[in-house]
Amino acid sequence: MQREAMVRRLREQFDAQVPWDIAVVGGGATGMGVAVDAAARGLSVALVEAHDFGKGTSSRSTKLVHGGVRYLEQGNIPLVMSALKERGLLRRNAPHLVHDLAFVVPNYSWWEAPFYGIGLKLYDLLAGKYGFGPSRLLSREETLERLPALEPEGLLGGVVYYDGQFDDARLLIHLAMTAADLGAAVVNYCPATGLMRGADGYVNGVMALDTETGEELTIPARIVVNATGVFTDQVRRMADPQAETLVITSQGIHLVFDRSFLKGDTALMVPRTSDGRVLFVIPWHGHAVAGTTDTPVDAPSLEPKPLEEEIQFILETAGQYLSRPPRRRDVLAVYVGLRPLVKGEGKTSTLSRDHVIHVDGTGLLTITGGKWTTYRHMAEDCVDHAITLGRLPDMECATKSLHIHGYMEAGAAAGTRSEEEEHLSVYGADAEAIRALAADPVLGARLNPLLPYLAAEVVWAAREEMARTVEDVLARRTRALFLNAQAAADMAEPVASLLAAELGRGEEWAAAQVGEFSALAEQYKVV
Ligand SMILES: Cc1cc2nc3c(=O)[nH]c(=O)nc-3n(C[C@H](O)[C@H](O)[C@H](O)COP(=O)(O)OP(=O)(O)OC[C@H]3O[C@@H](n4cnc5c(N)ncnc54)[C@H](O)[C@@H]3O)c2cc1C
Repeated sequence: MQREAMVRRLREQFDAQVPWDIAVVGGGATGMGVAVDAAARGLSVALVEAHDFGKGTSSRSTKLVHGGVRYLEQGNIPLVMSALKERGLLRRNAPHLVHDLAFVVPNYSWWEAPFYGIGLKLYDLLAGKYGFGPSRLLSREETLERLPALEPEGLLGGVVYYDGQFDDARLLIHLAMTAADLGAAVVNYCPATGLMRGADGYVNGVMALDTETGEELTIPARIVVNATGVFTDQVRRMADPQAETLVITSQGIHLVFDRSFLKGDTALMVPRTSDGRVLFVIPWHGHAVAGTTDTPVDAPSLEPKPLEEEIQFILETAGQYLSRPPRRRDVLAVYVGLRPLVKGEGKTSTLSRDHVIHVDGTGLLTITGGKWTTYRHMAEDCVDHAITLGRLPDMECATKSLHIHGYMEAGAAAGTRSEEEEHLSVYGADAEAIRALAADPVLGARLNPLLPYLAAEVVWAAREEMARTVEDVLARRTRALFLNAQAAADMAEPVASLLAAELGRGEEWAAAQVGEFSALAEQYKVV
């Protein structure tokens, strides 16, 4: 997956005056899912992303591939069932990236065991053949065995259930590689700047800017799909300045701690916080991630900031359940994501997480809402609509059993791997090539003693995964920034020199990259 080659393909298709079947605007889970689905059906597809793939919400989730126990409580059975099915398909198609995780709901009141026990049995039932394992009641001792960090005072027992976990940005990069493997042209750092309209007034292409070269690109297409998350309405208004608001935004934050705050391999699920939401504390890449919140936001941004009350809320709520309550100074990183919620009545936390497909009078096809977990189903629905709307060849969806790039049976790469190499498992089949690079002692060196990442991963990210900046490497190709903001900042210099050598950039570029990344990392710290 090389950026120059991708841009060249956009240029060549324009020169040949052949429209793409589908042009997608937005390189998050939704847009990349559409690109994969369309390419897998044999349609020609181009995708442009304003920043890096996954820069938006899709790298900032709670990292759960789940049906959503909370939606069950809200009575949204169809959403839960569809998400549980997608959870099963995703684990089957990307076993290198999705794995089962046990969750425990601790019980401190007598009614909680029967209440959550029955609710989670229903969750198992709805999963049907896509189930990850049966839930069951736990004694007090079993609960503490699974969650040794839990507050023991007043604890009566718990309920264990199973859901999925993943690395969101890594899955996104592998989806981009899947799309590329299937012939799609996907370009990062290439914002759509306008939508083209034909003589009939219908949208028939995208104007975009290659921000690396300043070149303006014209991408003619039979159908344009707007998959820009919280930026949905901005793109709709490129074609119709009067378009009414479709999406409102709410933000959710996560705090990341040292793993000692959550010993063991089980996640903690608090089913009802003081604001009526759920809170998770989950083990992730050797750390503990706690979240999330739901706070309405006025204007979308690519780098949303946490509010002080959100930080306090998570510290306090997690502190009520953990025997060693985390404090401010224990926070290694804070990250913030914005939910694109389809406008409706009521509080943002009660708005539906279903996806919506909307066709403007200009023929622009917008897809928004939904969840990471359901990206494949959303894409199938969207491409079905695109085929009808654009009179494209009617080809069947092929993604239900499509292996995601790097596909490797779970555990197939295990065996003699050292702990240090274990983190490479998320690359799936590509891990072998990274190990080969790491055979060179310079590239085999760790970038920071606190995190497992190797210099070889920087080189791989630049050569094969279209990483263009230090941030791309430290935020999304590896997850350093999301795990430990200070350690990530400390890695900026070596990463900048490795990248400069790979991308043919000079020292000045590398120094500017270090400066930009260090400033960004400050926002991921809690002071
Ligand atoms: C706090 C939080 C926790 C969550 N946790 C989970 C979870 O655990 N499990 C789950 O299943 N779901 C979860 N979700 C939901 C899930 O993350 C989102 O549904 C999903 O990531 C949305 O993806 P998207 O592609 O629609 O949006 P985004 O990822 O935001 O992608 C939109 C992209 O469009 C790009 N863009 C904008 N304007 C332009 C333009 N003019 N030209 C080109 N590109 C443009 C942006 O740069 C961005 O990359 C969570 C959401 C939040 C906020």
